Amino acid sequence: MTERLDAFMARANAAYYATRDPYADFTTAPEISQAFGEALGLWAAVVWRMMGAPAPVILAEAGPGRGTLMVDALRAIGRIAPTFRAALRLHLVETSPRLRALQAGCLPGAIWHDRIEQLPAGPLLLLANEFLDALPVRQFVRRGAGWTERYVAAARFVELPAAAPDLPAAEGEVVEVGEAARAVAAMLGERLAATGGAALFVDYGPELRAPGDSLQALRGRVAADPLLAEGEADLTAHVDFSAVAAAARAVGAVSQGPVPQGVFLARLGLPQRIDALARDKPPARAAALLNGARRLTEPHAMGRLFKALALCHPALPALPGFAE
Ligand code: SAH
Repeated sequence: MTERLDAFMARANAAYYATRDPYADFTTAPEISQAFGEALGLWAAVVWRMMGAPAPVILAEAGPGRGTLMVDALRAIGRIAPTFRAALRLHLVETSPRLRALQAGCLPGAIWHDRIEQLPAGPLLLLANEFLDALPVRQFVRRGAGWTERYVAAARFVELPAAAPDLPAAEGEVVEVGEAARAVAAMLGERLAATGGAALFVDYGPELRAPGDSLQALRGRVAADPLLAEGEADLTAHVDFSAVAAAARAVGAVSQGPVPQGVFLARLGLPQRIDALARDKPPARAAALLNGARRLTEPHAMGRLFKALALCHPALPALPGFAE
């Protein structure tokens, strides 16, 4: 079987998330610190006020993993923004039956969907951490005056002639196109422009798109060959934030950011929250809290490579974390 890389990636990841515990292979910001989900929950509460506090409102998460982010978000919302808590209807977009079962255990009352398109109509607040990086990418290779595209056959790349992507690249260089992420942004952009709201994506990738192969497989927390161990490793690629933002803008939405995760979380008050949490804790617990916050915010850890990007209705002002 010869399969285009994006089809291979979609199939391998669907099998992976359906059968494995992804947290044996990688960890994510909400698993590192409860303050991450709390900060995103309060972000949603503030944006809801900026939207004019519509009730009811859909609070959705794409790719909720174990449900940790949303559990932390709802706890913070319940404490600080009870009117938003009462107005929100919780919707989760998740394809893996295994992860849905975990989410159901900690998020009673949620409604599940396979795709973002299936969310009911109306004002929307959508959160997504490390969702876009799991969506399939295509890879083109510069060959002479033209281009080839990468396909997968028997766990190896084969190249077939292809139409040219609009990017300068040197001979042999790989250019990635995240069509699935762009489609999500275009669909959301249209919806947000029409019926209001905002979507917050936190993910990893460079500020400006550069040529290069960023496809990565993680298995047991170490890098694996993306084409081997099909369905047994987590496949991700860098998110092309500029392409995601452009796809939403092209249909009338506004984009804000991307802002480095460290800057974004600092603006949302994460360091102060950590200090407050650590204050009355035993020294070992306090140190763990501070350590988690450092991992999320320090530039050499997750603070710079990870970024926050918002897509929203054009009438909304600068959203929390995105104002200078
Ligand atoms: N946000 C979580 C999980 C990140 S892993 C965290 O931060 O810990 C990626 C998540 O996206 C998983 O829940 C996975 O099952 C889900 N996912 C991956 N591809 C998807 C797709 N095409 N549609 C819906 N969910 C998807």
